[in-house]
Amino acid sequence: MSESYLSIRRLHQVFGDFVALRDISLDIREGEFVCFLGPSGCGKTTLLRAVAGLQLQTGGDIFQAGQRISWLPPEQRDFGIVFQSYALFPNLNVADNIAYGLRNRRTGRSEVRARVAELLELIGLPDAGKKYPSQLSGGQQQRVALARAIATRPGLLLLDEPLSALDARVRVHLRHEIKELQRRLGVTTIMVTHDQEEALAMADRIVVMNHGCIEQVGTPQQIYAEPASAFVASFVGTMNFLPAIRIGEGRVRIGERTLNCRTLSPHGNGEVRVAIRPEDVRTRYNGDASNLISARVRGLEFLGAFVRSELEIDGVDEPLVADFSANDVRDLGIEAGNVLNLDLPAQRLHLFEH
Ligand code: ATP
Repeated sequence: MSESYLSIRRLHQVFGDFVALRDISLDIREGEFVCFLGPSGCGKTTLLRAVAGLQLQTGGDIFQAGQRISWLPPEQRDFGIVFQSYALFPNLNVADNIAYGLRNRRTGRSEVRARVAELLELIGLPDAGKKYPSQLSGGQQQRVALARAIATRPGLLLLDEPLSALDARVRVHLRHEIKELQRRLGVTTIMVTHDQEEALAMADRIVVMNHGCIEQVGTPQQIYAEPASAFVASFVGTMNFLPAIRIGEGRVRIGERTLNCRTLSPHGNGEVRVAIRPEDVRTRYNGDASNLISARVRGLEFLGAFVRSELEIDGVDEPLVADFSANDVRDLGIEAGNVLNLDLPAQRLHLFEH
């Protein structure tokens, strides 16, 4: 446990007879930006609330900086929190909102004034101190909420879907700002989101959750390239799933063709699903022709930089979606009705039993 700043041990949460969290264990290092990602109802907010002490867990433990905090009330824990709905005090101006936690700690007046000025500068709103929340845009209010959350220099910053109430343009902008701010401050941060793009763009590590369980923990690159389960593969990014028969170590049969694949769980033959991302299907191949499969182009959709194509493999009911570069489609003269020889690289094929 020595390396981790926040340590969650076998956390269990039951509401009536509904199990919201099942024996969750997780370690977060100091300074890390971790995203809890998952579909609605998977338990990510429940987990965040347990860390904050806003709801007491049914069982299990939480340690922060080596101290057991599992049963401490929120006000005795060391965190700042930002909610989806900005939750600023409407009757206090921006400066007083930011100063709220500092005053609660009986911080001296000049120190409060200096810290508020510093934070207003940090969030890019140096002149907004005297304004009221209602006079600010959603994005600006969320920046103020962020400043308020970090005013007392908490050890842990908790962000509960902080961007989801904002419109798309502001959201993308603010996600860079939050990430940058977090990096500069080095504050250990947990963000809850159901938006995979947000998690991929912001997190050092993503915790993918489903039905109250952790499905996978990894860097954005690992989660995307090496999904540990069919759920992760389908939840993050776009993935094709093709029915296949495993016929031995490193070999699968898809339709009429036998292909090489890389990862195989240890035993047995039988029905599996082979998964491949649209951008991993290749129209050009170099050298190893063992993983070629022929497919008929059913349709093409021009999407600017790339062309999304729906293909049909002989003997396979499921369509195969492939993204070809617009240049390849033009150079090779690909059009609907063509039969293409496609390369499904072995190292890009994922195998799932369910
Ligand atoms: P969302 O993105 O929709 O908020 P989530 O992954 O954050 O989803 P949670 O809010 O953690 O999901 O809720 C997980 C499950 O626990 C849900 O089915 C929810 O209805 C249930 N739940 C959460 N809090 C309570 C509560 N206080 N009492 C009863 N059920 C609850």
